[in-house]
Amino acid sequence: MFYDYHVHTSFSEDSSMSLDEACLAAIERNVVEMAITDHLDIDYPDRDFQFDLDYDAYSAVIYKARAKYEGRLNIIMGLEIGLQPHILDECTAFIKDKNFQFIIASIHAVSGMDLYGEEYHLQKTKKAAYTEYLKELLACIKSFKSFNVVGHIDLIRRYGSYGDSSMKHTDFGDLLDLIFEELINTGRGLELNTSGFRYNLQSTMPDIDILKRYRKMGGEILTIGSDAHTPHHIAEYFRLACDLAKESGFKYLARFPSGKPEFIKL
Ligand SMILES: [Zn+2]
Ligand SMILES: [Zn+2]
Repeated sequence: MFYDYHVHTSFSEDSSMSLDEACLAAIERNVVEMAITDHLDIDYPDRDFQFDLDYDAYSAVIYKARAKYEGRLNIIMGLEIGLQPHILDECTAFIKDKNFQFIIASIHAVSGMDLYGEEYHLQKTKKAAYTEYLKELLACIKSFKSFNVVGHIDLIRRYGSYGDSSMKHTDFGDLLDLIFEELINTGRGLELNTSGFRYNLQSTMPDIDILKRYRKMGGEILTIGSDAHTPHHIAEYFRLACDLAKESGFKYLARFPSGKPEFIKL
């Protein structure tokens, strides 16, 4: 039985999966609960993509599917919100008065540049690029509190051409520890994202040494997400991810049926 807490559907500009397709794939893959976490990325730098979210249509489709699949699959209405320092008030305003049960906070753009483009990485060392990314993440989560977990905390590993793309705790520990301290002290948590395997990172995001450090510092809130944009990626590598979580010292995963974490045994 799996809990996939990071799935995109056609409400995200980069996915064409219908919610029905996602639900059927989830049921087939022993997922008992799935959080749909479509994108909201306000002022996303790449103007070819508009990651806005039609909340009324989104919630209507989710409520309908919830009734349709009742007893077979729990559907959590979630959101993946892209944070940038200058849009945090708008993020807060968007969420207010909406019924999201679960929110992932992610950094997809830094210093006004999307991470996947070349511009951000130009004339930067790996150390500088990763440090700026983590600093921006820390600044954002200190100001913006309306989320449950940080998504793919080492996403920057997917981009740039730095040869070794790893983010080791030994190299970035000061910032990572400040981020974990902030999360732990404010009742928020971390996501273990399995999409790293399909993006050739040969590991989850984050990798196990960072996950172990979060646990060692007292981190308890952990969700596992596939970041699926197509049916065949739902719950992919979840058995392995559960094993990695256990190996890192976690005994429970968090789920968010009511906005607050509830814990299920790993
Ligand atoms: Zn993301
Ligand atoms: Zn995502």
